[in-house]
Amino acid sequence: MVTLADYRTPLSGDASVDSLVNATWLRPQPWPADDTLGYSFMGASDTQRALYDNGPSGYAAMNATQVSATRELMDYVGRVTGLKVEEVASSSAEIHFGTAGLSDTVLGVTYMPYRYWHDGKGSISAFETDAFVYLDNTDAWRFKTDAPAAGNWGYFALLHEIGHAIGLKHPFDGSPTLPASLDTMDNTVMSYTMGSEGIQTRFQDYDLKTIDHLFDRDDAVAAPQVASVTTSISSSWGTGYVLQVAVTNTSGGDLVRPKLEFDLPLDITKVWNGVATETAEGRWLLQDDTLGHVFKPGHAWRFSFKVSTTDGERPQPADFAVNGQDLDGIDGSGTAMVLADQTPLLDLSGLPADLPRAGAPVEWAEVIVDGTPDHVEQPDPAHAYAAPEDLDAAGAGLFGIPQPHQHHDDLLVA
Ligand SMILES: [Zn+2]
Repeated sequence: MVTLADYRTPLSGDASVDSLVNATWLRPQPWPADDTLGYSFMGASDTQRALYDNGPSGYAAMNATQVSATRELMDYVGRVTGLKVEEVASSSAEIHFGTAGLSDTVLGVTYMPYRYWHDGKGSISAFETDAFVYLDNTDAWRFKTDAPAAGNWGYFALLHEIGHAIGLKHPFDGSPTLPASLDTMDNTVMSYTMGSEGIQTRFQDYDLKTIDHLFDRDDAVAAPQVASVTTSISSSWGTGYVLQVAVTNTSGGDLVRPKLEFDLPLDITKVWNGVATETAEGRWLLQDDTLGHVFKPGHAWRFSFKVSTTDGERPQPADFAVNGQDLDGIDGSGTAMVLADQTPLLDLSGLPADLPRAGAPVEWAEVIVDGTPDHVEQPDPAHAYAAPEDLDAAGAGLFGIPQPHQHHDDLLVA
């Protein structure tokens, strides 16, 4: 039996991830169930919006500059999530874009409604999840929401709202939250606090870790992953060096979301074309950031990083692994290694069965909820029933009356 509990996003146990997981927004797990994330630009009116009774005042379609920035960022979303992101008709989109007349300091707003059909006994027969992103179209000159471009607040607001639309929450809202010292835009674009690096144009470390948690499809990759890794020192000095690394796809299929691990008992102080995380004492995980998570046969993910040492010792990386598979024998620089183990990583046994969707019988009622107990009204007592036991926090609101989740950003002064 499929219950609402099956639509809750599980937490990871890592506080820097869980403080960004919007667990109150129910959606199929994994979402989207078909690995294709569709988005659409709403026109003068939109049937999907009407479906959810979702109508912010002053609605207007996006202008050409907003459309262009959105396409660029959704393309980026495809690369960091590993999903197939496509511009589609509104009726089959998961994310819908437009503009609205928002109040003075609000740059963007995202509605995250969902609706489902059930049999009156707690069994869900069909479920729909959508997100509606609106940029401000009044006083847009203040923050360039009418002309989003990398480096301005309009672009940042669009990135931030897209973050909401794929399941991220503010690090200071709900539970858990980030400590104030970590709640800055240097760590996550879902923060309201400017960090030392200024206006961000891409997701930051915590965002990417959370996206990996929300959309990690490594287990669903069908192609065997065979790669060679080549490393070379491009410059060195008394207290450090820069290592260049190429991870080349030597297989006949796609190399998806390469993750390179190695031992290195030094600090990595800068990375070009990647993100470094120290996963254990002296063990590093390097992931692609901006180049994309899917590498075609023959293509390589190339990145460099700088390491610093204080005592003059300059050990080099060792014990490499790509996507969890060891590269026996490679260490130091100037060496290459072919990953010979062609055992497919495919393992679909742990994935949940596809959820009933199209064609599922509508047995009782359509309910639109926002998951926030503030807006609860009791359903008709004749049809009332208890929420599944494990839905504590959100349970009180689950069977409420339509009230699309209205999410406001009281964001941003310079
Ligand atoms: Zn926000």
